Amino acid sequence: MEERRLRISLVVPCYNERETVPCFHREVTRELALADVDYEIVFVDDGSSDGTREILRGLTQADKRVRFISLSRNFGQEAAILAGLKSADGDAVIIMDADLQHPPKLIHTMLKHFRAGCDQVVARRTRTGEGRLYTLAARVYYKLVNRLLDVHLLDGASEFRLIGRTALDALLSLEEYSRFSRGLFTWIGFDQVVIDYENVVRTSGASKWNLRKRFDYGLDGIMSFNNKPLRLAIYIGFFFTAIAALYMFWTVGEAILTGVDSPGYTTLLTAIVGLGGIQMVMLGIIGEYLGRVYYETKRRPHFLIREHDGERSWNADSTT
Ligand code: UDP
Ligand code: MG
Repeated sequence: MEERRLRISLVVPCYNERETVPCFHREVTRELALADVDYEIVFVDDGSSDGTREILRGLTQADKRVRFISLSRNFGQEAAILAGLKSADGDAVIIMDADLQHPPKLIHTMLKHFRAGCDQVVARRTRTGEGRLYTLAARVYYKLVNRLLDVHLLDGASEFRLIGRTALDALLSLEEYSRFSRGLFTWIGFDQVVIDYENVVRTSGASKWNLRKRFDYGLDGIMSFNNKPLRLAIYIGFFFTAIAALYMFWTVGEAILTGVDSPGYTTLLTAIVGLGGIQMVMLGIIGEYLGRVYYETKRRPHFLIREHDGERSWNADSTT
């Protein structure tokens, strides 16, 4: 009996990518034609407002292997990827950005590792072409995060990766509301290979991430794995209580011994302001966790679908 070919699903989140989608489709299909696989491309329109949906609809008509899901509004990249992963039914899924910052050529390397029995293949980019300061911040962040978290995050690893069916099903069985998928991919385990590539600068369209969003995303990463930040709060609390106690003994002792009454606004003010600040941060940390519990208990879906189009049709034009 003839063995069927490997089925690969490409999951592509798109948010206002009107200019990049046609080019992406062209490049990717060219690459996939060279690989000995059957494939489908699942575009997820994340509530775009620039007509990306119309372009995707056109693509599904022109190419039988293209499907698209359109979310009812912008739910964010994480949700868009999740929507795609849930709908993909290949033996392996490759997640890619629509802006061609993820070189389609790497698909071959990913497939090679997958065929060799690897469950996950992660593409890690160098940081060439990114700002110095940003690179430095990223480095510090990953150092910190890897100290704090139970899972290890790779600096430069993006969403560009291949994930095999077994690992994907494991990933989809995690139902938490706040998803920090970079961490979740590592958390589920399975065999993982890292491949490196040179960073590509976006040629058209604009990045959907600003500094504020990246900062929030970074905080999500720290908060969504364990309660170590809360622990840290306790330690800092202990530390300052100890300092306060020592300082108290010292001043009382000094007063008893020498009897001088020295004015102390400066120390007093510093202590009040400093401790006030620390308390605020700690309250914030507690609040952040409480907020997460609040979102989890609501059990809202991660995304809502407006429409989908395109049939599941493996072997659309394969000659069997
Ligand atoms: N994206 C999305 N929803 C969003 C933001 C981004 O689906 O709310 C998609 C976007 O269309 C792109 C990918 O996620 O395909 C990566 O986004 P972007 O290129 O803006 O991020 P960067 O490469 O700058 O990190
Ligand atoms: Mg990009």
